[in-house]
Amino acid sequence: KHYKTDVHNDWCPGCGDFGIVNAIQMAMAELQIPRHQAAIFSGIGCSGKTSHFINVYGIHTLHGRVLPFAQGAKLTNPQMTVVAAGGDGDGLGIGAGHFVAAGRRNIDMTYIVFDNGVYGLTKGQASPTLRLGEKTKSLPTPNANYNVNPIGLAVVSGFTFVARGYSYDVRHLKDLIKAAIAHPGLAFLDVLQPCPTYNDINTRDWYAGHDLATESQARHSRIYKLEDQGYDPVVHYSGGAEVDERLSQALIRSLEWDSKIPIGVFYKNELVGPYEHRIINNIPNYMENPPAAQSIARNAKPRTDISGLLDSLEI
Ligand code: SF4
Ligand code: MG
Repeated sequence: KHYKTDVHNDWCPGCGDFGIVNAIQMAMAELQIPRHQAAIFSGIGCSGKTSHFINVYGIHTLHGRVLPFAQGAKLTNPQMTVVAAGGDGDGLGIGAGHFVAAGRRNIDMTYIVFDNGVYGLTKGQASPTLRLGEKTKSLPTPNANYNVNPIGLAVVSGFTFVARGYSYDVRHLKDLIKAAIAHPGLAFLDVLQPCPTYNDINTRDWYAGHDLATESQARHSRIYKLEDQGYDPVVHYSGGAEVDERLSQALIRSLEWDSKIPIGVFYKNELVGPYEHRIINNIPNYMENPPAAQSIARNAKPRTDISGLLDSLEI
């Protein structure tokens, strides 16, 4: 309850976003992360409101730019637990370049994408994860673009923890978020999040498999858990062929959709080492004296003198 704010929540009834926020709050509570040592950054979209609802430092940033803000904060203050949250349009449309660059860097933080196939805040246009040819009730004609594969893109971009959750399986999602935060490197979580207002294809009933052809199938959800199939996402040895095998199996599973949709951890590699360790090669005392710990004054004067600027702006 410590991690909840009393900010009014105006998400639509039944929106999957509620489950994600609950899971983040539960994960932080179970990990006992001090509130002053955690920061949530959010982008623009329905999911952008996430930073208002979680009682840690909250920073609501720009469309597509949540990763640069969050990475900057983590590098400035490496003691902080940093979580970035944003929509699929935000992160995989306008933010796709940052997504790839962040994967290559592997800064020790967590990125959660609220994946609903639409731009919910702006009335349901097709987002990068909506499948080619699908026509939600919010579209006048079927989607004319091929979809991005978020898990596949994360795996080939260098993210060292890649997982998918489902917003209505809050306990499972909470465990994934805990694992993502604990992971020493950049963790990506694709969270399937029904938008009942604009996406009438990927609904809660659809994920539950209610439309599947036969009765026996209908009793099973489309969603299954990788861990229930003995899938091992972990890279155990650095170098060698094992890492290629783990990457390949993650890519193959990432292509599953429709009647079989995997959730759980697709790929996990702790052997790469986060970006922070690479900085130490150049700045040996970086962790003891990161920018956030450095004095901004010298001889009681600010190191940056902006008095000239202030004078010039005076009216
Ligand atoms: Fe949720 Fe969709 Fe409503 Fe946005 S528009 S709050 S994603 S249901
Ligand atoms: Mg979206």
